Amino acid sequence: MDATDQTLESVVHHLELDLLLGVNSAPLSLRPQPARPPVDLEQRIQALRQLDEQQVKSCKKCTLCETRTKTVFGQGNPAARLVFVGEAPGHDEDMQGLAFVGKAGQLLTKMIVAMGLTRDEVYICNILKCRPPDNRDPAPDEISSCWPYLDQQLRIIQPEVIVALGKPASQTLLRTTESIGRLRGNWHDYYTSGSPMIGSPTPLMPTYHPAYLLRSPGEKGKAWSDLKMVMARLDLPLPSQ
Ligand code: URA
Ligand code: SF4
Repeated sequence: MDATDQTLESVVHHLELDLLLGVNSAPLSLRPQPARPPVDLEQRIQALRQLDEQQVKSCKKCTLCETRTKTVFGQGNPAARLVFVGEAPGHDEDMQGLAFVGKAGQLLTKMIVAMGLTRDEVYICNILKCRPPDNRDPAPDEISSCWPYLDQQLRIIQPEVIVALGKPASQTLLRTTESIGRLRGNWHDYYTSGSPMIGSPTPLMPTYHPAYLLRSPGEKGKAWSDLKMVMARLDLPLPSQ
């Protein structure tokens, strides 16, 4: 038996072990994926602009349209490898029409910079495009009315990884009622249009919302450990310490 045969035998052995250990139950998105098609940036810019200007800006699908100042579509790189999805616009976002520009947004910016990225390199958006009055939680009917816009955004951007910030974003994207404490720190599969097992899924990492981290700074370590898993998945250099 030559060296190549031995290597092959050891690979087969490992594969058999993996099967025995149930490694194949890892999210589909963690298995080798075909190369991504070349990015047509201009097409994506146009598609996102059309969705915003022709549908979202004039949307009246739920009652939040009556109280909003501005719709908040989301912003960033239309071909981002990484998309952050939050809950809904707050006061500052509603006034400016931009996602994550208030206090929570400032912490999100720090988290992005700690990952070695900038806000312009990633894409930042929310489940709801209009602010719920007094920042109350999004209602189920508002989520079901609005989330097709986000689904469409994700189809256009085709990110390699999605980070869901907080409970509403994580539970909506994964169609689960599991708590954020149990969801975070593990990879999940996001299927566009929500049909499990149809099409190829995008790996999704749930983590704590920056507004929660502002109230519970003791949890920042866990969020950072989630973001380091994202960095590893994207082959971004990890900090040395
Ligand atoms: N919180 C969110 O979930 N989204 C924003 O855009 C701002 C605060
Ligand atoms: Fe339309 Fe979404 Fe705004 Fe409701 S929250 S009015 S569904 S854009």
